[in-house]
Amino acid sequence: MVHTGFNIIIKALFLFRAFARQNPDLNPSSVVGFSPFLGALLATIHYCLVAPKFRRESNDSIDQIQEATMSEEESSSNSGSDESMSEDERREAPKNDFSSIWDLPDVPKGQLPPHLTRQKTRVFCKADAPTHTDNVQYSGAYASIGVDNSLQIDFFRKNFRVEVIKLDKDVMEFDMIGIDAAIANAFRRILISEVPTMAIEKVLIANNTSLVQDEVLAHRLGLIPISADPRLFEYLSANDTPNEKNTIVFKLHVHCKRGEPRRSVYSEELQWLPNGSGFAKESERSDAKSSTYTSFNCSQDSVPEFSNNPIRPTDDKIILAKLGPGQEIELEAHAVKGMGKAHAKWSPVGTAWYRMLPEVVLEENVVGEDAEELKRKCPVNVFDIEDMGNGKKRATVARPRACTLCRECIRGEKWEKRVSLLRVKDHFIFTIESTGQLPPEVLFTEAVKILEDKCQRVIDELS
Ligand code: SF4
Repeated sequence: MVHTGFNIIIKALFLFRAFARQNPDLNPSSVVGFSPFLGALLATIHYCLVAPKFRRESNDSIDQIQEATMSEEESSSNSGSDESMSEDERREAPKNDFSSIWDLPDVPKGQLPPHLTRQKTRVFCKADAPTHTDNVQYSGAYASIGVDNSLQIDFFRKNFRVEVIKLDKDVMEFDMIGIDAAIANAFRRILISEVPTMAIEKVLIANNTSLVQDEVLAHRLGLIPISADPRLFEYLSANDTPNEKNTIVFKLHVHCKRGEPRRSVYSEELQWLPNGSGFAKESERSDAKSSTYTSFNCSQDSVPEFSNNPIRPTDDKIILAKLGPGQEIELEAHAVKGMGKAHAKWSPVGTAWYRMLPEVVLEENVVGEDAEELKRKCPVNVFDIEDMGNGKKRATVARPRACTLCRECIRGEKWEKRVSLLRVKDHFIFTIESTGQLPPEVLFTEAVKILEDKCQRVIDELS
């Protein structure tokens, strides 16, 4: 599923690229009219895939002109020197074909030297601030040294990987490798604000004599995660009538009798009403047939998913209010489908976040007392001590993934030169913490589908 999604996304990139080739001045966000995020995504695609191509083509033509000019100059200067040299002198003269250091035989061709590769693929975390934080996107960034920096889709396909590190009911940690930060961030933003869930939107309060005001109680109810698959429901628009396909109704009727101690009201006391609202709507006409606040045509528990797994809050022990003797709450709460971008109560995650893979490098051997000192400096035990025999000890990097970038190990002048703290730019450790409505792995596949839909919309707009 994830790979199908990525294939659609790649297809969209190519289609957008083809369209933008014919419109080099295209401003993607204004033309397509999508969200700022998608505009930013398209802009990234445009500047990564299309603009560099045009720049490369124009650079190529400049290079061709320069080459032609140089060869003319060389041939004229060679012919001049040929005239002054005898045949024997010419044969014995050393051949010098080097026009720059890059022509030397031991300099690798078509690839970056190690220090530039490191700057391109790693963020350097120094004591005061990180450096080399940007991604080098421009295809001609290394043209002067003969290295093509254009985006290779085949290379991306071959190298992109998702590896699940930890998965339980509510939390998933996985590594997303070989992808740009913009795409990783797109998934994070979609997870927080665009994967829909069900949440309480309307509260009808018949009686509330507790100390919690009506609006505060309604707000608390809204934030309770509801365990119901949102994919089985439709959105309720302003003109729609609440029915079994777009609304879930809960009832809460609790009271604390006189003479009893104070009691707490918990989320588990919300009772699901599969047949819809039980409150009669007030009618201006006394002879009118009474109706309720919803129009259910059938009971929701006839749906197999709900008959086996009744709708309820994901957590039973969320405190809603405290009641003193004689106090009472009677209300009905209506949950509808929505997205986190409208209100955080619809967000399916407590949080979704990522960090770049840490890389800790010892630039020189750290031995003896210094090794012990380095091990002591790290609060999360990234370093170990290796016994080298004869009582000698050497520090090693044992658990770089645990590094929190606290920078303790590079404090002090001598340490900053000996230890390098790096971050791998295209390797993201992604964590999804679900609020419980959907498992975290389902949330991620839903996020992939949403990005896929957005790309499909771009394809439809352009074709
Ligand atoms: S930055 Fe902090 S957590 Fe990371 S290796 Fe250094 S001391 Fe340990």
